[in-house]
Amino acid sequence: MTGVSMRCVLNRRFHLIVLVLSLRMLDNISAATNSDGIKVTLLGTGTPFPNAERFGSAILVEGAGTKLLFDCGRGVVIRLTQAGVSPKEIDALFLTHLHSDHVVGIPDLWLSGWLLGRSKPLPIWGPQGTSSMAKHLAQAFGFDIHIRQAAPDPLPAEGVEIDAKEIEQGEIFNDGLARVSAFLVDHGAVKPAFGYRIDSANHSVVISGDTKFCQTLVDFARGADCLIHAAWSASWKNPAPPSMRSIASAEDAGRVFAIVKPKLGVIYHYKTEEGLSDAVRKEYNGPFVIAKDLMVINVGKTVTWDGKSAADTTPDGDKSRR
Ligand SMILES: [Zn+2]
Repeated sequence: MTGVSMRCVLNRRFHLIVLVLSLRMLDNISAATNSDGIKVTLLGTGTPFPNAERFGSAILVEGAGTKLLFDCGRGVVIRLTQAGVSPKEIDALFLTHLHSDHVVGIPDLWLSGWLLGRSKPLPIWGPQGTSSMAKHLAQAFGFDIHIRQAAPDPLPAEGVEIDAKEIEQGEIFNDGLARVSAFLVDHGAVKPAFGYRIDSANHSVVISGDTKFCQTLVDFARGADCLIHAAWSASWKNPAPPSMRSIASAEDAGRVFAIVKPKLGVIYHYKTEEGLSDAVRKEYNGPFVIAKDLMVINVGKTVTWDGKSAADTTPDGDKSRR
């Protein structure tokens, strides 16, 4: 083969590779823009107790291209990366309450997002105390912030700012594509504690946050397609008497599902799975699933997860799990 014909072969191969890569990129953009519902990724479904399978509370909700993160527990940046999302891409963070297992991932999300290219402030909505926490985080990480801004090729100053907003019950976010409403829940001595409702593309997802059975949650969740409810365990697995508890049992969550009748109920923030499903089923005959880390739920005309559809389940429950 002459030098010229070798160059022609290499050129053709190069163009073929470029064409394949371009088609893949178009495919990805098309998948993102054709979305007609809400995509939920359960990043962390665990509790304060360290567990390699289930990280701290964090739920990614994507609607019409907006990436919203609810709580920021242990390992959130690792789970985001596993889900194919850079921490710099998070448009807004919402905190249900300030228990450490819901917020310890904030420094990682905030500073790694800055390091990876975020050039605007990180907006955080949360209960009273959120602004103080943000201010003190900036002090705690002052060395890192200073050294990266003093470098010859400094990171942008705006990217390390936190835009903290303290919330009350009601609509708190609306970018024209997604709307977020906060509502007060009952997490015992932890006051205030919030749950959230997200509406986008004519669909809705509700996240309970940490709460006991709560009528306000029931009221805000009416008509929701997907209701994600915390449940510590089956009631019999919790040694604390019911009057001393600050978070729902699986039976409590089942009662809420039975009233709200979502297309899909989801249990998260559970300490142990033993007896959990049967406890929900005592109170509720509709579709539900016990969440695992990195489970993806697509909320559209139907609600699907792990290739299963809530519409395929019977009133007796989710047969696909059995
Ligand atoms: Zn809590």
